Amino acid sequence: MADADYLAAISRELVTRIRDDDPEENGRWLAAVLPDPADWFRLVFVTGALVPDDRTWSQLTAWIPGGAGSATPRQPCGTRAAAARHRRRKEKVCDACLRAERPGPAAWAGRNGHLKESA
Ligand SMILES: [Zn+2]
Repeated sequence: MADADYLAAISRELVTRIRDDDPEENGRWLAAVLPDPADWFRLVFVTGALVPDDRTWSQLTAWIPGGAGSATPRQPCGTRAAAARHRRRKEKVCDACLRAERPGPAAWAGRNGHLKESA
């Protein structure tokens, strides 16, 4: 049985993966890091503790481009989620993503710079 700290770490990782990765890949990852299905039940409660209870469904899913029913969401390079995606896929983290991980105004400069390049 996984302890609460481990489940919290899994839950936080799952939050970024859901925003960024293929659902099938996320399912395989979850089965690998949490092989006991009984822990999936526990994970629901730990994850529930992370969700603010004063927000509407629309507010909670506002990060999904096109709304909650749209296709697989993917954060662009120049975001922390994209940097995490590079690392999970064992790719070189691009400059825009490295800048996005820096605290402060540099993160915005990195994101804006990358968006200009791709526009
Ligand atoms: Zn990147």
